[in-house]
This record gives sequence, structure tokens and C-alpha cells, in this order.
Amino acid sequence: MARTWIDRCRKDHKLCSRTSELWYPTRLLHIDRRTQKVRLIVSKSHSLTDPYITLSHRWEKNIPVKLQSSTIAQFQTEIVTSSLTQAFQDAITIAHHLGFNYLWIDALCIEQDGDEVDWNIESQNMDRVYSNAFLNLSATMASTGEEPLLLDRLSGPLQPSGTKLFNSTRENYYIMDSQMWSDEIDDAPLNQRAWVFQERFLARRILHFGPRQLAWECHECEALEMFPDGLYQFSTLLSMTKSRTYNILSRPPQETHGTETGIETGKFVDGYHNLVHNYSRCHLTRSKDKLIAFLGIPKSIQKTRVDTYIAGVWNRTLPFDLAWYCYDIERCNLSVSKVSFQAPSWSWASASGPVNFPEVSNDVKKIFITNWMFVQQSTQTKDYFIDKTSIRLQGFLYRWNGWTDIYLIFRSSSFTSIERRCFHAEDQR
Ligand SMILES: [Zn+2]
Repeated sequence: MARTWIDRCRKDHKLCSRTSELWYPTRLLHIDRRTQKVRLIVSKSHSLTDPYITLSHRWEKNIPVKLQSSTIAQFQTEIVTSSLTQAFQDAITIAHHLGFNYLWIDALCIEQDGDEVDWNIESQNMDRVYSNAFLNLSATMASTGEEPLLLDRLSGPLQPSGTKLFNSTRENYYIMDSQMWSDEIDDAPLNQRAWVFQERFLARRILHFGPRQLAWECHECEALEMFPDGLYQFSTLLSMTKSRTYNILSRPPQETHGTETGIETGKFVDGYHNLVHNYSRCHLTRSKDKLIAFLGIPKSIQKTRVDTYIAGVWNRTLPFDLAWYCYDIERCNLSVSKVSFQAPSWSWASASGPVNFPEVSNDVKKIFITNWMFVQQSTQTKDYFIDKTSIRLQGFLYRWNGWTDIYLIFRSSSFTSIERRCFHAEDQR
């Protein structure tokens, strides 16, 4: 089944085959085709042309064997696979059987020393690691790092229930759960992890090891063993799938006379806000990683979209991106601590709980904010992880008369009845 999905994607999907660069991570695991022995290699020391694959898994701090500066020499000679976690052993076995010689696993390819020096360097390249991999293996069902990829499955049939309708010439109907994809994949334990979120978005192809069946996800298709030819026939029941979201966010903006049309802006905003909403629901061990664990996504979007990204928001759509709100008050903790900086206070990333955005029309941009600019851009790591950036806004203030007015402001294009005053605001944190 996995080989069929891979072959079909490789042959028929143009979007999935589109590669911009021949690039390899700093280190890779090499799996010997004959002996299946594994060793660590430094990519630059080899003339690599074969594809590599990656693994998404539940991170465990205390895994028995990982790459450290003290073990790197031994790893380059040979890695004793029986000493690895079962998930890593299974990933090696699967890579070998699918015909791949190179595998990237973070815990075995990035030094895990306490000073995090290597980690801080390599984590900047996560977008390239996953977007350039041929395939990503995902331990989707795993709620701990101890769980294997290959399990004895439940013995239930993987065939959808067929039925016939009276008074109809069409006979091939199925009775099925419209939330099946969510149940199997979106809501699976691994996909609740924030670090895995960008891995899933960036990977061109994902082979999910789900709780009941294998699943396939690429830039053009979603499929389950139950529906091996794809979920297209009932895709309208799915919300924003990976392929839909990726297609919206990765295509160049359609412009008229050098300006992006309102419809195009709306599509981008909807897609991006949906992405942020889903990301904000994921769990993160260290809150200070909120932006860095998301970083690969804006870097990927910027390959086709010319815009400035700062701390979770885009310059071209800033009024929309600032409209985030927390809807789960119990889980929402706004981070303003200067000890453990998470994000500027104006960014959705400063909230620890799930956030969402109102559906707004393009008029909001004209009504609320007339001018905006980022100031004090002191960068820590290139332009992406900004510590002390503030925003300067100019626009109108409306007298607060309760939520009804807010609803009217967002829904109506007539605002003359609402008192307006100019404001000039600057928020530094
Ligand atoms: Zn594909």
C-alpha cells in the first residue's frame, strides 16, 4: 500500500515533485542496502544524490541512545540499532524496505548536549529538513516516545459499509463517519504536538502510522487504507486539509496592477488564520519555543510570497493578524514575563492557549487602522525571531458600547453612527 501511494505521487503529482534545491541536512543516517547496518554520516563529506526521508515522533528527553558530542565518533562507525527505541528501529526497518538509504531522525542527527549549541543551529533549518525530504514517516498514533511504529493492528475490517438506496439507479453508497480523517489523523496523539505541526505542514509526503490503519498525506491527496484512492469524493466534509491549506499559502499572490486583490488577500488570511488556530491548540513543552517551533511555516510561505513576517504576523495583513482572541479562557495565559520571553504582546504567540480570529471583511483594514509600521527591529536570529519589536499604528477609535457594536463594526460597512476618534498607539511588548 505504501509503495503504491509513493509511486502514484511520484508519477502523477506535480506539486509534490516540485523541488527547489538539492539540499541535505548536516548529518544523516546511512542504511547499508546489503547488511542494513546504520552509521552517521556528515552530508558534505559525501556526494549525495539519493533522496532521504525523515521521522516525526513524540520527543522523549530520556531516550536511551541519542547523539552527543561524546558519542559522535562511535555513531560514525556504527550505530547499534538494537539499543535504539523501538520507534527508531522501526523507522530504519521501514526506510530499508521502502528502498531508502538515508534517514534523518532529530535525536540521532542533532547533538543533544545540554548547552543546546548544535540544536540552536540546526533548528533554524527545520523547514529545509522536512520540505526537502522525499517522505516523512509519522508515528501518528504514538502518545509516548516508547511506542513503536509497527504494531499488531485491530482485526476489524477496513472496508467501508456499502448500502443501496431505494428508487435510485446508483448503488454504490457508503455509510461513513464524516469526521473519520480527524479521528484517524488530525486528532491523533502525535499531531497534538506543536513541534510536529510544522513538520507535517512542510513535508511533501507523509506516511501516517495511525491507530487503525496507514494513511497518506501529500500536497495533492489524502488517503486511508479504507479509501486508498483518496478522500476526494467526500472532501467537502473535511475542513482545511493539509493539501488545501498548503495550496492556498504556497502559491504566489494573484495581483492586479501590482496590488493583491481583496479576494486573494481573504483566501490567504483565512488559510493562515486557520493554520494559526490549529497550531495554537497544540501542546508545547517549553512556552518560549512557541515561535521557533512555527518558524518553518513562514519561511516556507516566503518562498512564494513577498512580505515581512515578524513574530507570527505578516506586514501586508497586519490588521487582520492583530485581531486574534483567546476563546478558552482557562487555558489562555498571556505571557508578558520578561524572564521567559515568548512573543511580543501584540502577537497571537504571546497567548499560551488556543486562539482564533474573527471573520472580517477587507473594510476593517480601512476602518480601524490606516497606517502601521514595525519599529525597533532588533533581530536575534535573522529576521524571524524578534525580541523587542514594537508596532506603531494610526487609525480611529470607536466608543465602546458593548459587543453589539463590535459585531456591527465587523459585519457592516456603515459606521457613521459610531463615534470615531483618531488614535496613535505604540505597543512595545
Ligand atoms: Zn503527492
